[in-house]
Amino acid sequence: MRLILVEDNERLAESIGQGLVDEGFVIDRCGTLATARQALAAAHYDLILLDLGLPDGDGMELIRSLRRRGVATPVLVITARDGLGDRIRGLDSGADDYLVKPFATAELAARCRALLRRPGGSLGTVLEAGNLSLDVARREVRVDARLVEMPPRETALLEALLRNSGRIVTKSAIDAALYALHSDVSPNAIDAALSRLRRRLAAANAKVQIMTAHGIGYSLMTPVDQAATDHG
Ligand code: CA
Repeated sequence: MRLILVEDNERLAESIGQGLVDEGFVIDRCGTLATARQALAAAHYDLILLDLGLPDGDGMELIRSLRRRGVATPVLVITARDGLGDRIRGLDSGADDYLVKPFATAELAARCRALLRRPGGSLGTVLEAGNLSLDVARREVRVDARLVEMPPRETALLEALLRNSGRIVTKSAIDAALYALHSDVSPNAIDAALSRLRRRLAAANAKVQIMTAHGIGYSLMTPVDQAATDHG
């Protein structure tokens, strides 16, 4: 289960993050709305832990924009008592649950597990492009119906590209997607992983191509996308 924690208080983020890792969660941390948006665009998360008072805005804005776009990922708001106010009462903003600081990590972990058990969440999403698909929860890549063996770093890269199929994914978005794997995200490492991913997809007969936008990033194109680009 992969969680994203959006919290600008570093000490608190560190202690919550460590507590949840100890409880068996995979957790990425961001301190601003802007970095949270980047991470959410690039990777799949099963749950969002969200502080409201952030340096570049109110966490509520993020919830509203996600819900407007039909993103159903559960959101657990963590907030100081004086940040609670009327806004959170009734959870009508689209948050699924909230906890008032300070709280015990064991309680937070229990609330996370409860939200993740709920049906209708974001589990089981399958991303598709051409004859290629990725089951984001199972981390299974298929071409037609055949399973393709793929290491975690390439799978994370592919996920970021598939989530933005037909559009350019910037290098910083790719950094964010790979950050969770605690792997080397130097530009050379990304390029090398991209080359391996290209070869692997070609060998598996995937009808997609990864294009390079020099100095900007990469995009995953299906034959349909390419025809549209060629003809204007
Ligand atoms: Ca804060």
